[in-house]
Amino acid sequence: MPAIANRVAALATTVFSEINDLALEHNAINLGQGRPDFDAPPDIVAAEVAALQDGKHNQYAPGTGTLSMRQAVANHAGRFYNLDIDPKSGVVVTAGATEGIFSSLLGLVNQGDEVILIEPYFDSYVPNLHWIGAKPVYVPLHPPTWTLDPDELRAAFSPRTRAIILNTPQNPTGRVFTYDELKLIADLCIEYDVICIADDVYEHLTFGETRHIPMATMPGMFERTVTVSSLGKSYSVTGWKLGWVYGPPALVTGVLRAHQFVTFAAHHPAQAAAAYALSQPGTYYEDFLTMYTVKRDLMMAALDGAGLKATAPEGTYFVMADFSDVFDGDDVAFARYLTREIGVACIPPGVFYCPEHGEIGRHFARFAFCKGDDTLRAAGERLAQLKR
Ligand code: PMP
Ligand code: GLN
Repeated sequence: MPAIANRVAALATTVFSEINDLALEHNAINLGQGRPDFDAPPDIVAAEVAALQDGKHNQYAPGTGTLSMRQAVANHAGRFYNLDIDPKSGVVVTAGATEGIFSSLLGLVNQGDEVILIEPYFDSYVPNLHWIGAKPVYVPLHPPTWTLDPDELRAAFSPRTRAIILNTPQNPTGRVFTYDELKLIADLCIEYDVICIADDVYEHLTFGETRHIPMATMPGMFERTVTVSSLGKSYSVTGWKLGWVYGPPALVTGVLRAHQFVTFAAHHPAQAAAAYALSQPGTYYEDFLTMYTVKRDLMMAALDGAGLKATAPEGTYFVMADFSDVFDGDDVAFARYLTREIGVACIPPGVFYCPEHGEIGRHFARFAFCKGDDTLRAAGERLAQLKR
């Protein structure tokens, strides 16, 4: 009997699909997967519709992406971060950030190399590393403030370290790393000649005075950083799966070589809409943050009313809540109980940890608040049963 390949045999269905199914089965309010339940801005959708109908975008895009989108990515990096990106040789358009990260690893990391991951980490990183034969080295963030221990970080770097994947603003903790934290990581990258794969998909989602600092802007880091981002979160179009990678041409070349044999090219019509979206005026981003600040406050009030302990996230649309005051059991048991009995779905964060560090996330649940305000209020009413 033919069997499936070893490289996927041990992989379970992703937690996001599992929780979506469970939420559907129990008619739960789904605060699991980070997927807005409201529509994208109509003018951004209209830009894609126009591209679908103009007779110029229904065949393969250039493998690197359309020049207009690459130019828009470069302009965006210049406008927000003062980075000087070459649209011709410093940008690759990918099928979402997920492909951007995989193509970056394929193009920049060798078999046997070590790659540092900050825990909890986004779930696709580890299977990606296994497929390329690289070894993940884990550095946990410590609750309740989700901070790094500088000694643990330093101990993870060695002459075998090829790269670090850094996600800020960070899913699932909502942390936005400070200049000092980034400086610590940057200095180690320079000392050990390490590449940074910066996963900046939540770059526009920071609250209050908090600002996203791209690793590519840290002293000495541009030459050793590829930055990955996508349209999904910033423009509420997670279904489009359109992303990009930018950085110094010497590294982007590696990403491009991999990308051309992973997908060759990404969805063409969305690239026209991306060029439009990336050029939105400042008011777009202000309104976006105003909208999400209301949602974050509703989410925090809901958690508080339920007796769940959480620090308000500095960025992203996720929050990690400690349920130990209201539930006896681990994260998976809590997520199942909450979905089935309370009618609210969340993500058990154990999947974002290596087995040795799973204990750290054992009494936390991740909630996504990229949902309608009324949905968040309704979730709050249901969650209040936990306290009672
Ligand atoms: N990185 C992080 C940290 C994410 O949360 C996500 C969201 N799924 C991705 C990467 C993937 O982004 P995309 O949907 O553009 O592939
Ligand atoms: N980024 C989203 C989340 O973390 C979606 C992930 C996914 O479905 N792969 O919930």
